[in-house]
Amino acid sequence: MSFSSQSRTVPSSILIIGSGVFGLSTAFSLSKNPLFKNSSITLVDRQQFPAPDGSSIDSSRIIRSDYASPAYTRLASAAQVHWRTTYRDHYHENGLCLTASGPEQTYVTESLANVQSLGTCKVQVLKSQDEIKKVSGTTNASGSIGYVNWSSGWADAEGAMRQLYAQVSATGRVNFVTDTVTRLLISHSTTAVTGVQLSSNRTLTADLTILAAGAWTPSLLDLRGVAKSTGQILCYLPLNPTEQSVLAPKPTLLNLSNGLFMIPPSNGTLKIARHGHGYTNPVTLPNPERPESGETITVSLPMTVVDDPNLEVPIEGQRECRAFLSQLHPELSTRPFTKTRICWYTDTRTGDFLISHHPKYTGLFVATGGSGHAFKFLPVIGDQIVECVLGQTPEDFRGKWEWPARAVPEEAWEGDGSRGGPVEMVLGEEIAKGNRRGKL
Ligand SMILES: Cc1cc2nc3c(=O)[nH]c(=O)nc-3n(C[C@H](O)[C@H](O)[C@H](O)COP(=O)(O)OP(=O)(O)OC[C@H]3O[C@@H](n4cnc5c(N)ncnc54)[C@H](O)[C@@H]3O)c2cc1C
Repeated sequence: MSFSSQSRTVPSSILIIGSGVFGLSTAFSLSKNPLFKNSSITLVDRQQFPAPDGSSIDSSRIIRSDYASPAYTRLASAAQVHWRTTYRDHYHENGLCLTASGPEQTYVTESLANVQSLGTCKVQVLKSQDEIKKVSGTTNASGSIGYVNWSSGWADAEGAMRQLYAQVSATGRVNFVTDTVTRLLISHSTTAVTGVQLSSNRTLTADLTILAAGAWTPSLLDLRGVAKSTGQILCYLPLNPTEQSVLAPKPTLLNLSNGLFMIPPSNGTLKIARHGHGYTNPVTLPNPERPESGETITVSLPMTVVDDPNLEVPIEGQRECRAFLSQLHPELSTRPFTKTRICWYTDTRTGDFLISHHPKYTGLFVATGGSGHAFKFLPVIGDQIVECVLGQTPEDFRGKWEWPARAVPEEAWEGDGSRGGPVEMVLGEEIAKGNRRGKL
């Protein structure tokens, strides 16, 4: 029997696809919830945990309640309580300096108002480049106005995910499977999803399938006009112990106008990245909902080092990160990057997550659409997802997380106002412009 929010019965079997922050936190929440004590829980991922190219696996992620939307400020602030306690071994509360110099100043102003209204954040308004420079300890300022929230910070993402994985394993409730889901088992006569087909030719069946495959989700479900994958850039630079100790206590810098940010170093590595519109990687594939029909669709899907071990950030991206580094710390401007990486967002039209029963298929729930900002919710998002499974979407997220009433062409997406930098870049075209194997 397939499960929907209208069902009165609790699903006896639940299958989760994806062990990123959405899937793993859902598994944890389900395994602790007495309502599901008799339900079997299976979590399948295409990679052995931790997936080397998963969006939730990296040296660092910003942990902030600094949002232009009050609902996300509330939830992020609730998550921070756990970052300061349960996940304190992985959390560093160094502050976040949020700046802008263009239209993104609106986001900064709204975010400032939201964190001030919390009443618990130590916030310092920065009215000039001099003030930004002083707070961030850099030679030059990036952005013309902004503020620093000393109550925000960053976390060792992989470390926190490993802790969560250990917590889930310790419940003894979750059956972990390493295999690639090749398709959902969809019955078009009953419009129900009954499980998945794996690349090993096995099938896994379940009353409820929770699809949380991050940026790969559009390869398993037709999400055109609802969610798309965009590749974002990361460059890593080695520091000596003196440089590490000087820069480690500084706040994270995020300039929303060009999207560039720098997270304080850990283990002798400084990270520079861009929270931007990203690259698309259009791929034509059989319609995942009707692979036997011969119909194809074209969607953006991740390309990672798992697909091509020699993949590097295109020269365009490396140059931007290099220029940002040179502006802030000219003394490091010629030091080569040790590693670069393209990491994939699952973007939605408004930057809101997609946490919803599928509008057509019973037995299918989707938890994705991280839109480049979901990691910080690791301690709380699983419980929220389970609430939504039970048909109890939190009031302030109603109309945000549910399946959109209509698909909107990607050109018309408005975003959440936090993205700056170049637009409409296609990964293959950018790679073709430069030597992808080189590092600047
Ligand atoms: C560069 C970058 C910087 C970011 N910075 C921040 C930040 O500072 N703060 C913040 O809060 N958030 C940040 N984010 C966003 C955050 O990391 C993501 O929103 C979040 O990690 C997404 O989690 P997920 O579970 O959706 O995806 P993932 O972590 O990618 O998990 C999806 C999993 O599904 C598996 N999978 C995929 N396809 C299949 C298949 N067919 N079969 C089986 N398994 C499959 C994958 O192997 C993977 O493990 C950033 C993201 C990126 C890329």
